[in-house]
Amino acid sequence: AEARLVAVRATPISGRLTLLVLRDITERERVEEMRRDFVANTSHELKTPVGAVSLLAEAIESAADDPEQVRHFAARMQAEVARLSALVNRILSLSRLQASEELRDVRDVSIDEVVTAAVEAHTVQADSAQVVVVRGGTKGLWVRGEPQILTEAIGNLVANAIAYSPQGSKVGVGIKLDGDVVEIAVTDRGIGIPESDQHRVFERFYRADQARSRRTGGTGLGLSIVKHAVQRHGGEVRLWSRPDRGSTFTIRLPLSETPDLDIARPKQRR
Ligand code: ADP
Repeated sequence: AEARLVAVRATPISGRLTLLVLRDITERERVEEMRRDFVANTSHELKTPVGAVSLLAEAIESAADDPEQVRHFAARMQAEVARLSALVNRILSLSRLQASEELRDVRDVSIDEVVTAAVEAHTVQADSAQVVVVRGGTKGLWVRGEPQILTEAIGNLVANAIAYSPQGSKVGVGIKLDGDVVEIAVTDRGIGIPESDQHRVFERFYRADQARSRRTGGTGLGLSIVKHAVQRHGGEVRLWSRPDRGSTFTIRLPLSETPDLDIARPKQRR
């Protein structure tokens, strides 16, 4: 394992002298540390919805004589449980991507197919006319990877674009070829992300201030999943954004070098 020396503490002793405490961190320790952080963060994030469910259960019990109140609390409890379940699913996706576990079901994946699936999965929550897919003559592009995780990554961008823009404003999904790289760009005209937050939004559990005050439904894990999923497929994510103007998140993935067209073609025609 690679050994590194890092300063964990620097204490000034006098004007000229500083005490440096050095520590040797091997790769394995670093991974272990990341895992501990992850467990600590997720446990913390799970506590809030679990606490809410427990309070609502108590509220239902004490409102037993009032059917109206019971219905009200039960509906809120259902919403909390749905949120909890979405959070758990995202935690599972992310921990699988962060572990060095192999991708599953790796095959040539049609970009059209994953983009369509991702958009369909999220247009129920919005007015379906809101998301516009522009293919620009790029039918029949293939990348190598796990279809489900690619769909999830693109879907997270579409869901964010819808969530962080005003009701009824348009979200565009563009597919483009740049040399031997496929670009999937998700554009919104929403609240945008201040420059100071742009490099942090891909960190797990990070949410920009505006998002926190705007919407309580988020988990702060969506973009982290996007980043890891795309990296595991040999690609990268780019972000352009301006507050109050909107954002474009672009996923760049290498084209499959050897698309197995005999298998792929019939699927494409479907
Ligand atoms: P969340 O569940 O909070 O949406 P994400 O990891 O998907 O978590 O995003 C992290 C943060 O990045 C969000 O809380 C929000 O502040 C910001 N963000 C993501 N996508 C957009 C977007 N399309 N427009 C504006 N802000 C965004």
